[in-house]
Amino acid sequence: MVGQTMSAARLEDVRHAVATACEEAGRKADEVRLVAVSKTFSVPEIEPVLAAGQRVFGENRVQEAREKWPALKEAWPDVELHLIGPLQSNKAREAVELFDVIHTVDRPKIAAALAAEMERQGRAPRLFIQVNTGAEPQKAGILPQDADAFIAECRDTHRLEIAGLMCIPPVEAVPDPHFALLAKIAARNGLKELSMGMSADFSAAIRQGATLVRVGSAIFGQR
Ligand SMILES: *Cc1c(COP(=O)(O)O)cnc(C)c1O
Repeated sequence: MVGQTMSAARLEDVRHAVATACEEAGRKADEVRLVAVSKTFSVPEIEPVLAAGQRVFGENRVQEAREKWPALKEAWPDVELHLIGPLQSNKAREAVELFDVIHTVDRPKIAAALAAEMERQGRAPRLFIQVNTGAEPQKAGILPQDADAFIAECRDTHRLEIAGLMCIPPVEAVPDPHFALLAKIAARNGLKELSMGMSADFSAAIRQGATLVRVGSAIFGQR
């Protein structure tokens, strides 16, 4: 029970910090949505955060989300579920079934698989393209220099509506230039939404224009 009270209190702290960062950046509080990242946390650990009023959650694995969320969604039907981890094309069907927002479209094969599934299911999750702003070999995401062409391909070839861009800056890096680069690519492609900022750097992301921040450990505790 102590842990559950703590997550509700930490959620409140994060909400305040988001509001403060918005104010300092001269932005309205409702311009930034908080995605509570519940990966690795169990249903009983997620419930108090739902009870505290949070409705937008992120998971990084399709399989884990499928095990945890159908029951929670029955109890809280207005939950909005975001996929924030890498997507394999053989999981596109389940991803389209389960998620309301997918942050990690990053290659033509995934774009094609999602387009086919959205058509088949008549469901249209909001889509973000992940950009590998640090060009890290081990990290998912389209390279910055290939982003414009990939956004055009998603729109023109796959007829996908793209809501915005997402990035995860390199762990050791000062994140601000990465957020600024993502904002620049979005602006020149007419994209309004920016999914950027985690527990350690969401205030910086909000200063650079984030519209969605993905916060896990600051709410749920260390993984
Ligand atoms: C885990 C994760 C987060 C949340 O990270 P915290 O540091 O716990 O806030 C955000 N985005 C992605 C893509 C993640 O995988």
